[in-house]
Amino acid sequence: MKIKILLLLLVPVLLFPDHLKVMKVIIDAGHGGYDGGAVSDYGIREKDVTLEMALLLKKHIEGATEPPITAILTRSEDKFVPLIERVGLANKSEGDLFISLHMNASPTKRDSGFEVYFYDSTGDAETAAVAKRENEQDGSVENKDRNNPLFILWDLAQNEFSKESSGASDIIQSALDGALNRNADTTLKLRDRGVKQANFLVLNGMKMPSVLLEMGFLTNKNDEEKFKKQEFKERYAATIADAVREIRQKFDKKSAAGR
Ligand SMILES: [Zn+2]
Repeated sequence: MKIKILLLLLVPVLLFPDHLKVMKVIIDAGHGGYDGGAVSDYGIREKDVTLEMALLLKKHIEGATEPPITAILTRSEDKFVPLIERVGLANKSEGDLFISLHMNASPTKRDSGFEVYFYDSTGDAETAAVAKRENEQDGSVENKDRNNPLFILWDLAQNEFSKESSGASDIIQSALDGALNRNADTTLKLRDRGVKQANFLVLNGMKMPSVLLEMGFLTNKNDEEKFKKQEFKERYAATIADAVREIRQKFDKKSAAGR
């Protein structure tokens, strides 16, 4: 009798090994330490918002998810972490999904809303400008990273995952569109600027589906006001966590179909 039960328990393991795999999400809080990133008129720094949102996202991803999802942070305190180290940590951890969190900035204070990015070596002039700002951690790191032997080894690793990264971007964008952009509650409403592609250095070497989220504009007064409110930030992080669960379902279906 006991053997029968044991066999029954083993059937799902043998038939669906991937479903029992603990999904690993790498959450990357952009900037940190002396690299403050964008700054709002009122002195709110991008590095502080990204860290706070990364910690919230970890909480929402790991809370009440069955089967569990593990969230690994590239930084959990206010310190400088070079892009190359973020890529290294994610690849070494063999993550299933990488999410980099950033805040946008624009000379036009009218620009507002969120943008979801996946890697592309080209992109248009507007997305190239966003990538340039994010790639220059202290104005010189980009070149140092580019010449790092590890980076050369990892260069273009992301191309293999462009379809999955594009699919993951769509799911995150659609979840945020529903929870924020289409929300009648003006305290939660945030404009949806869609899914875009750009040459982000931190995504280029990733050996896993990867997205970069520009969560909102620190240079826009309405966006900035929202990121001061706890309820808004909790809702934002919970929505990304929901999207991560949906992404896992999609990945599971794909791996099941591949068998
Ligand atoms: Zn940034």
